[in-house]
Amino acid sequence: MKKVMLYFFAFVFICFLLPAMLTNTKRFNKKEKVEENIQNQEVSQEKEYNYKKYGTVKLLHSKTGEVEEVKLDDYIVNVVSAEMPVDFEQEALKAQSLVARTYTVYKTLNKKHENADICDDSTCCQAWISKDDRFAKWEESKREENWKKILNCVNATKGKIITYGNQPINAFFHSNSGGMTETPVNVWGGGNYPYLKAVETAGEEGYTQYASEVSFTHEELLNKIKTKYGDIVINFENTEDIKILEHTESGRVKTVKFGNHNISGVEARTLLGLKSTNFEITKENNKIKFSVKGYGHGVGMSQTGADVLAKQGKNYKQIIKHFYTGVEIKDINKI
Ligand SMILES: [Zn+2]
Repeated sequence: MKKVMLYFFAFVFICFLLPAMLTNTKRFNKKEKVEENIQNQEVSQEKEYNYKKYGTVKLLHSKTGEVEEVKLDDYIVNVVSAEMPVDFEQEALKAQSLVARTYTVYKTLNKKHENADICDDSTCCQAWISKDDRFAKWEESKREENWKKILNCVNATKGKIITYGNQPINAFFHSNSGGMTETPVNVWGGGNYPYLKAVETAGEEGYTQYASEVSFTHEELLNKIKTKYGDIVINFENTEDIKILEHTESGRVKTVKFGNHNISGVEARTLLGLKSTNFEITKENNKIKFSVKGYGHGVGMSQTGADVLAKQGKNYKQIIKHFYTGVEIKDINKI
């Protein structure tokens, strides 16, 4: 009987207990490995981020036509220092870093230039300035400190981009929204993007980029419009001959009448060199005065608006989510 019991226990040990013990040992090893990986990841993230296929950017220098291949985040540091004043809040500079990186990845995937991913012309792609040129414009005693501030803000968002539907967004940005941003259809026509809606930001009036004025004599105004509309005729005695006909939802000029032509606010901005399409027209001492609010096309993130929000205590993620509706901030290698 004792023998039978012994065989029985030996059987139970071999069939059930031994495999369970081995499995537990394996599990333990696996857990240990995961923890080790997490630790390694944290260390490597502190050192350098592996951008894989986005590791370098082919940058076209628009003045020389030269194409230079630079590391993504090295490029982003030069972009941020060209696009945003360094005395802006750190969270605003971090938001700008994220926007610049996302815009770059979007341009890399949707190429505008044949042999390059992006160019250094702010009117075409996004501004870029060399470190030497940037330093020359900063007070000598502040140069290293300023550069370090931008470098830290770029590093703080390392590896991250803004996504919608798991895709990088077309991260438009501008200087000052004049209080409310604009939808792309009112600027460029075509389709809208679900994440680029008109949003309000109070407090942008505190910046020099907010308000501007331009006055033209009758002749100056006619000459500017004539560059596009050769047959322009305006009766300056008739108050109805220069008139804003329609506004967009964000309060910008959609259509404006100049004599025998009704033109879009965007066209008027280009022809007259106004800082934005958010303007009012008044007559003053035989001149036509344009009082303008905001600076830029008004789509996406307002840079001064980002600084306002940062001053209110918002972090860069909250700033991004304010200007881009329904977006997420993701690790570039996880999309
Ligand atoms: Zn370009």
